[in-house]
Amino acid sequence: MFRVFGIDVLLHWSWFLVALIQVRFTELFNGVYWHVATYLALFGIVLLHEFGHALACRSVGGQADTIVLWPLGGIAFVRPPARPGAVLWSIAAGPLVNVLLVPITLLAYYAVSYGAADGISFSQMSDVQRMMLAIFMINLGILFFNMLPVYPLDGGQILQSLLWFVMGRAKSLRVVTVIGLSAALVGGVIALSFGHLWLVLMAAFIGWQSWVGYRASAQMLLIERQWGG
Ligand SMILES: [Zn+2]
Repeated sequence: MFRVFGIDVLLHWSWFLVALIQVRFTELFNGVYWHVATYLALFGIVLLHEFGHALACRSVGGQADTIVLWPLGGIAFVRPPARPGAVLWSIAAGPLVNVLLVPITLLAYYAVSYGAADGISFSQMSDVQRMMLAIFMINLGILFFNMLPVYPLDGGQILQSLLWFVMGRAKSLRVVTVIGLSAALVGGVIALSFGHLWLVLMAAFIGWQSWVGYRASAQMLLIERQWGG
């Protein structure tokens, strides 16, 4: 799409497919434009979150030059230096952006609600009020979801970098990827029983990434043993 601070922002084609489905099935607003605006706001928030990762990674001397937006969220391809502190800052900076957005989105909601009657239900709100409330909730949702301590979500990677300080890189990765695999299995079965396709896909993604991480941790442990850490 564009390039900022030397970071290429790419948009995966499947985003349009999901945008189409989302816009058709979202029934929050009276006009289609509000659906589109809310969906764009969602991706704006995800984009800011990813820039948080990328710029923080660079600030500690790491590499970050690509951000990809796809329907399961955003991915900032960050390669921080292999130090727990550098990894911790690169990962924590994403959710920190959402923390900063909490008061901003709340103020925006209050700004558009100025003069409106108190205590009205969602259906009685104006479209712009609904949109601002939806954006506030979307930001909170992204924050809480990302902070789940499940690898490879941010919360899981933050946990790993904290454990890294005490048990080293390989063992910390092993611990969080086992948590990730367990959560993917349990979450996947629950999502399947509820027929929630989106969460099934998410669980599959988490399980796959955790498996890749687990294999990497096994190789790291082998190298650590052979070379004495
Ligand atoms: Zn993140």
